[in-house]
Amino acid sequence: VATPTGAAPSVRGETDAAVHGHVLGLDIGGTKIAAGVVDGDGRALSFVVEPTEADRGPADGLARLFALGHRAVAESGVDWADVQSVGIGCGGPLDSARGVLVAPLHLTGWRDVPITDLAEQEYGRATVLDNDATAAAAGEHRYGAGRGTRHMVYLTVSTGIGGGIVLDGRLYRGATGNGGELGHVTVDWQGRRCRGCGRLGCLEAYASGTSIAERAAEAGLGAMKATEVAAAAEAGDETARVVWGETVAALACGVASIVNLFEPEMVVVGGGVTGAGEQLLGPVRESVHAQAIGAAGRDVRIVQAALGPQVGVVGAAAVARERVLDAAG
Ligand SMILES: [Zn+2]
Repeated sequence: VATPTGAAPSVRGETDAAVHGHVLGLDIGGTKIAAGVVDGDGRALSFVVEPTEADRGPADGLARLFALGHRAVAESGVDWADVQSVGIGCGGPLDSARGVLVAPLHLTGWRDVPITDLAEQEYGRATVLDNDATAAAAGEHRYGAGRGTRHMVYLTVSTGIGGGIVLDGRLYRGATGNGGELGHVTVDWQGRRCRGCGRLGCLEAYASGTSIAERAAEAGLGAMKATEVAAAAEAGDETARVVWGETVAALACGVASIVNLFEPEMVVVGGGVTGAGEQLLGPVRESVHAQAIGAAGRDVRIVQAALGPQVGVVGAAAVARERVLDAAG
């Protein structure tokens, strides 16, 4: 999938380069790797994707990722001289400060990969590594649905559930960049086993796409994807309505706890399960407003993410840009 836009290179002045220069964003998912050149306004001038095939190992995977990055630059129409830095987003555990993939859960066998050093050797550009959900939060905050907020929480409800937190306008990362694991907020301490972390009753064990499909199968609906469960519930299937109702209740419970913790102005919800749109977000919003404490619960806006499938690449660019701005003071 390649969608070059043929946009012209930046014409801004050199003094603005640190803020407005182009960034190469790389995104390493469990099934797909993606690359794109992102301009100072968060637009992806190119976006190229191919299968991850993580079982071929890190050497093979990184060679293909770096080649994909070169392709993204070529297809963007931007001169390499105008690409100022590189951002990489990946699932954890990783060490953001050292730029090392420690042992990502979705990349079996990729251990202690010094990916930013390798990317800097490849591209000759300063490179930043971050957790993919943190990067997505940065993208939605800087360029997407969360623009203009100071306190924002991002949730991606997909195969699993990830999260990212912006406090006082800054990304919260934790000690090594693995903070903000909002999918592992407990919604039932004696509940279902979480595939992600092994504990009981995590939000992810109820409201992730995988868990919705599992609960649907257990309820007798057969093999259905989360969006199909939503459609069946909408069409009036009683069993699907129960499964979907539990999904909404679990998500609302988790989001209410998150809202009580951080008092964000906005919760941005992305990921494939939000394809159900207001059928998911409407009742979650209503329930969170009723459950969460005081002003935090009354005023919080709960909205759909804006960046779509490019969020990984745009988010990776956003974290690279954030650190460039930090370095610039
Ligand atoms: Zn968990």
